[in-house]
Amino acid sequence: MKYSELCDYYERLEDTTKNLEMRDIVAELLEEAPAEDLGLITLASMGRVFPSSVDKDIGIAGKLMQKIVAKAYGASKGEVVEKFKQTGDLGKTAEYFCKNKRQRSLMKRELTVDKVFENLRRLPETTGTGSEERKERLVRELLVSAKPVEARYVVRTTLQEMRIGVGEGTVRDAIAVAFDVPKDKVEKAFFKITDYGEVARIASEKGEEGLEEVEIEVGRPLRVMSAEISESLEEAVEEYDNAALETKLDGFRGQIHKMGDSIKLFSRRLEDKTDQFPEVVQWARECLRPEKCIVDCEVVAVDDEGKPLAFQNLSKRIQRKYDIERMKKEIPVQVNCFDLFYVDGENFMDKELSERWNKLREIVVEKKGKFKLVEHIETDDLEEANKFYQKALSGGQEGIMVKNLDAVYQPGKRVGYWKKVKETMEPLDLVVVEGIWGEGKRSDWISSLMLAVHDPDAGEFLKTGKMATGMTEEQLQEITDKMEELIISEDGRTVKVRPEIVVEVGYEEIQKSPKYETGYALRFPRLLRFRYNKSPDEADTVERLKNLYEKQK
Ligand code: AMP
Repeated sequence: MKYSELCDYYERLEDTTKNLEMRDIVAELLEEAPAEDLGLITLASMGRVFPSSVDKDIGIAGKLMQKIVAKAYGASKGEVVEKFKQTGDLGKTAEYFCKNKRQRSLMKRELTVDKVFENLRRLPETTGTGSEERKERLVRELLVSAKPVEARYVVRTTLQEMRIGVGEGTVRDAIAVAFDVPKDKVEKAFFKITDYGEVARIASEKGEEGLEEVEIEVGRPLRVMSAEISESLEEAVEEYDNAALETKLDGFRGQIHKMGDSIKLFSRRLEDKTDQFPEVVQWARECLRPEKCIVDCEVVAVDDEGKPLAFQNLSKRIQRKYDIERMKKEIPVQVNCFDLFYVDGENFMDKELSERWNKLREIVVEKKGKFKLVEHIETDDLEEANKFYQKALSGGQEGIMVKNLDAVYQPGKRVGYWKKVKETMEPLDLVVVEGIWGEGKRSDWISSLMLAVHDPDAGEFLKTGKMATGMTEEQLQEITDKMEELIISEDGRTVKVRPEIVVEVGYEEIQKSPKYETGYALRFPRLLRFRYNKSPDEADTVERLKNLYEKQK
């Protein structure tokens, strides 16, 4: 497919904000796409370069992109910065310079979708000395051949900032419409292969039956399930006919895949963390009975006596790519298994929790203090539940999970499946979208952060408040380093960053406010902790803000 044809669709999508219209435009695109391009085009409709199961970073931020645009079109860096200030969008800026370029290109040829994504997919592999230049060349090659509108979308795709409002929900619905298959089957297949490109291909070639036949593949990460928040212990326990209560540990969500001797450990964001935790690999080999299985667990840091420690400790290990052996000694961990996806050819996601838990008990051989089942009781007795809850709190845990024993495993946040019960005014998980460089003593740091909630339908982030307190100097340094890698654009002291970093934020109160895109503002927001184990699309939503606002009234 010609890239210009794809861009026509992007433009139509950009012109509407109506969900149904967007769904139909994407469906039309999928129907039009040639069979060999369908996988790619499905991802492209969301502006994704890789499926979510692939843990790769394109690694081009706004500054480098300004340089690339300037070079490609023979403009000065100052001119690009100036134009960018007017448009606020590097895509439109590139489009402008492409239209008015001074340099005639000799190498021009018509762009195809294939060519554009081939170059972009080479970016993460381009590392080491001279990599910036090679990255530059890959993007410039596209810009030189691009028509103005194409330049807009090449730049936006590279920066992973499409501004067309198509998220996974839209694509799921569009696949259902385009290939006349049920939406829930599309979603189910996606849960197993976490790639809408492949799901679209299967739906188009083999229809509903093909989707039903999709199998879990051990070694390929799966989307995990998450909990909603409960108002109180009573509410949670009373909601389910058959409830299980489990300790809620504060570590990192792990997904262990076992294929004989070969073990993989993935994070909640589907990143491969196997190399970081050699002891978990070893234990998994010893403690998981089946030849092949996939287990859901929480990996926590523990002290010498095996007592769980705060997550902050563990984050050092999750990030670390060297000195693994030393880190292993300094920050020992413990694995707590609580759920099951798959055992020896059998998919357990469609089975009820009671069955999954029983099977899990069968297949895990506990290793004292190292590899175990999470503490789990089954009761509808409030007094007993409260005892369990109090014990978790006094043991230094965050709280408990109350789970519906009759519910299947459904990735994402589902009403009526899992609930978490915690003590305090619920903090919010928000995404950092902008920052302001500090002044005076703080001028080396980005010290004020603009926070946003997630809008799952549009795949966008809506601003809801600025946070400038609660951060230590160490944390300021940490967030500055992280944000500098993600800068999309700068305007004076304000930097706009790719929405990647999730922070847990405490606050005094939620107030109505026309100042922010959500219509709500936070009073006295303060940083509780960085949440590198959460992906931005798992951040809290406007719905949640609204509910908390109502609740506090
Ligand atoms: P939150 O991150 O506050 O939304 O809570 C959900 C997270 O709690 C999950 O993603 C897990 O990482 C963690 N967790 C801790 N203990 C459990 C448990 N027993 N069952 C499920 N999730 C747990």
